[in-house]
Amino acid sequence: MSEDREDGSVGEGAAGPEGTAGEEQVRYDQARYVENGQYEPLLSEKDLTRVEIGGADATDETGDDAESPLPDDLTRGSLELPELSEPELARHYTRLSQMIYGIDSGPYPLGSCTMKYNPKFTEDVAALPTAAVHPDRSERSIQGTLELLYRLQDYLGRIGGMDAVTLQPPAGAAGEFVGIRVAAAYHEHNGEGHRDEVIVPESAHGTNFASAALGGYDVVALPSDDDGRVDLEALEAALSENTAALMLTNPNTLGLFERDIEEIAAMVHDVGGLLYYDGANLNALLGRARPGDMGFDVMHYNVHKTFATPHGGGGPGAGPVGVVEDLAPFLPAPRVREGGTSKSGDPTYELFDPEQTIGKVHGYQGNWLVLVKAFAYIARLGDEGLADASAKAVLNANYLASRIEYDVPYEPFHHEFVASAGDQDAADVAKRMLDYGVHPPTTKWPEIVPEALMTEPTEVEGEDTLDRLAAAFNAVAAEDDATLEAAPDRTTARRIDQTSAARSPRLSWQALEEE
Ligand SMILES: *Cc1c(COP(=O)(O)O)cnc(C)c1O
Repeated sequence: MSEDREDGSVGEGAAGPEGTAGEEQVRYDQARYVENGQYEPLLSEKDLTRVEIGGADATDETGDDAESPLPDDLTRGSLELPELSEPELARHYTRLSQMIYGIDSGPYPLGSCTMKYNPKFTEDVAALPTAAVHPDRSERSIQGTLELLYRLQDYLGRIGGMDAVTLQPPAGAAGEFVGIRVAAAYHEHNGEGHRDEVIVPESAHGTNFASAALGGYDVVALPSDDDGRVDLEALEAALSENTAALMLTNPNTLGLFERDIEEIAAMVHDVGGLLYYDGANLNALLGRARPGDMGFDVMHYNVHKTFATPHGGGGPGAGPVGVVEDLAPFLPAPRVREGGTSKSGDPTYELFDPEQTIGKVHGYQGNWLVLVKAFAYIARLGDEGLADASAKAVLNANYLASRIEYDVPYEPFHHEFVASAGDQDAADVAKRMLDYGVHPPTTKWPEIVPEALMTEPTEVEGEDTLDRLAAAFNAVAAEDDATLEAAPDRTTARRIDQTSAARSPRLSWQALEEE
């Protein structure tokens, strides 16, 4: 990482991801943004007085040697900080926030990811002083915390049709891994430890394959039928006495409901396997249908997709796991249950370890504040509000699909649909949509649709916004390749070298100057 990065590029030189040297990449055009007054330097780039604080040589106000009583190897030495006034600092971050696109800027129709409404009141609830409870306090002194966790376990169990829930896993993918480990412990306990295969549809999310493999299983990929659903004959052929589980999401990644789900469940159960539900698409079913009623034995909930907590950006999430009764003894420890009654007659709550627990999978009960937000969201919407959300999610996806010119090969879909960009490159379409002021859909996945544009408008958007999204899709559909390849043209950062940005990220300004 030694190139001159005056051009503001991210990563290693001008060559594209796969050594496409010579093919000039369209890059973040710093000069243009300085010219337009849109460029915002780092705080440490601003030409400002720096204050030195701390350090072995520092002196205090009296001029005395203020040397730290700590051993030298535990002290930082000197620390340079830019000296800025409060408005300068506020402007810096406000300007940065104006250079990016987020859920507060416009629609965010990322299929499968469900970038939905995250009402601000859930942030207020999470910021309450009473939410800042130290996890190591005694059970007696955190009864409110335990009650919230207990009630969230209960809400999620009722929403999914599951008998027991753990709140610990910190993301959907982590929930998958826990679910698979719980399934493995169950089989092992029943003397069925020889089962070594997990079946995953080809169209599934990458984390399903990864979780099964990390859980120690051989992954058997299942092809889809011509309608885009589970191919029952292929499933029959894949199932055997070695099957530990089949992982499915329903509606599937094409937005299609697996109509044969009861038959699928019976087939899996007949060979002694378990049915795993990937909860990423639960937004389509909320308050209307429950995985437990369809025959699923174990599921995760992506609370940041289905309920609240801004999704993405690498922040913490939560992926609670629900199971049917037979699997409950294997859930991670501890869980929360009702313990007894207080003097005033209210129920009390306590932590307990399920008898055959697979152990602890996260500190305390998981990402507590994320769970608080999910709880607040569910409690505010209630049964009717949740059912209303799924109805509108499905209506919005169908309305949007009816307004766009790209072909949508698989129907009838529910909360999301997968259009095909046809002769255009889906990634270029996505970049170009940014120029029309909207966020693009998920692209190039699932692969079953060529040049996939996987779109999920969510229940949040109104007709005007959906029309604006459709107009952006349709404007891009009419454009030529040269225009698409040069996009985005109107954003602060243009087409960056994403592979290099991911493989050799610049994480420290200081370190780079020193290199
Ligand atoms: C998002 C997603 C996951 C993984 O969930 P995370 O919470 O992001 O870890 C799994 N399956 C599907 C279908 C998804 O869309």
